[in-house]
Amino acid sequence: MSAPVYYMNARSESPQTSLVVKMLTVFEAAGLDTLITPGDVVAIKVHCGEWNNTAYLRPVYARALADKVKSLGGRPFVCDTTTLTYQPFSSRSTELDLLVTAERNGYTSAALGCPFIVADGFLGTSDYRVDIPEGYILKEAYIAQAIAAADVLIALTHFKGHPMGVIGGAIKNLGIGAQSKRGKHNVHLGGHPKYSIGNSAVFHPENCRGKQEPGWEILEDCCPYNLFTVTEDSILWEREKCTSCLGCVGVMGPRGIFEFPELNFAAVDAAIADACLGAIKAVGRDKVGFINLAIDVSPRCDCVNFADMPITPNLGVFASRDPVAIDKACVDMARKAQGIPGSLAEEMEVHHPGEKKFELCSALVHGLSEEAQINTGALIGLGSKDYELIEVPPDDPAKHRFPPDPRPSRKRFAEKFAKFMTFPYDRYEGKGFLREEEVDVERVKHGNGQVEHTPETEEVVGDD
Ligand code: SF4
Repeated sequence: MSAPVYYMNARSESPQTSLVVKMLTVFEAAGLDTLITPGDVVAIKVHCGEWNNTAYLRPVYARALADKVKSLGGRPFVCDTTTLTYQPFSSRSTELDLLVTAERNGYTSAALGCPFIVADGFLGTSDYRVDIPEGYILKEAYIAQAIAAADVLIALTHFKGHPMGVIGGAIKNLGIGAQSKRGKHNVHLGGHPKYSIGNSAVFHPENCRGKQEPGWEILEDCCPYNLFTVTEDSILWEREKCTSCLGCVGVMGPRGIFEFPELNFAAVDAAIADACLGAIKAVGRDKVGFINLAIDVSPRCDCVNFADMPITPNLGVFASRDPVAIDKACVDMARKAQGIPGSLAEEMEVHHPGEKKFELCSALVHGLSEEAQINTGALIGLGSKDYELIEVPPDDPAKHRFPPDPRPSRKRFAEKFAKFMTFPYDRYEGKGFLREEEVDVERVKHGNGQVEHTPETEEVVGDD
């Protein structure tokens, strides 16, 4: 049986087609409101964006969803988790860093109307272990404690590309984002005898000139586990202790000291789906829902310190109970879309409808698949690749008016405006202000004072 995915497109021309309203509309259409019973603690898992990233979801989506949860009697919190370092200058690797970055990006308890929580604690070791015998490669997962302890979990996901996962959708939001720091080490296959960075990266110390390299210090400083030693003419690596934190990959790769380990990346893409299943099992299969906002579809994830222009137009708003189906629906729609002119999709010549865009625009190494997470998810029973896309009609606009006072203008303002006279009727014979009686408005429509010649235009008007 195909899994239903509820969908509204990304056009917005009226209050009831605002993307925030569409998100709430598909939330209800997919029955995600029925997951919540009064008193439930509801985790809303977001990606709050790395420092200087600009494509992450605006906090208003999480706010509107938290308000909705409260209206259903639930007790929401919005959360993200600490990261591995992933790069030498990370901004979300501890609770302290993550809170500072989240706050700068607008994810504050004040903005959200509910607490913003770092779900895996100060250093990312606060977690809950789950067995996943069904897993394709992982057999256990470590789920951020606050997520595992929640009664209901809503994955509110910005759908976009990802350097390692190829796509960053619902599966990745939980398969990486709901894992604690040690859970992320597990997903990134640290210590794995075949697929870890330590065991799969091809190391070329001969490409390092040691302390002759300009800025050689970063070759040591990129590793939070202190595994590199730069000598006078080369570099040493204690690869057997490598945790696969990826902190060095962007430093060593461009210098030719590492060959990017495709084997590690490809295996991690499968592990992401396993770990997503772990998160769902930790909360309960009938207590997890997914919303994907496929807007600002940037080629890299929100975990990088920048955001390139989107590679596809905004695709729309999706909701489902099935993380595999919802990601497959987004990937299919991105593939069908015309790529954006001037974007990386055009540069990589995958901008035509029908072309896979993420594999060339997003993946850091060649040979990865934009469907590996989806295929693994289908194999292990995480969800179904067979989906039915159900278009949802716009909601009643009356349900989405300004909640503090949904009355129309006269009822709200007539008395106060009369009392304080916001328009000065008493001046200039009721006209209110001192202004020219009439001006040539055509003259200012055209930059040089020229009136565009049309049959209705009698003559060109000069500047003076
Ligand atoms: S060597 Fe291993 S532990 Fe050190 S930064 Fe690289 S991936 Fe991380």
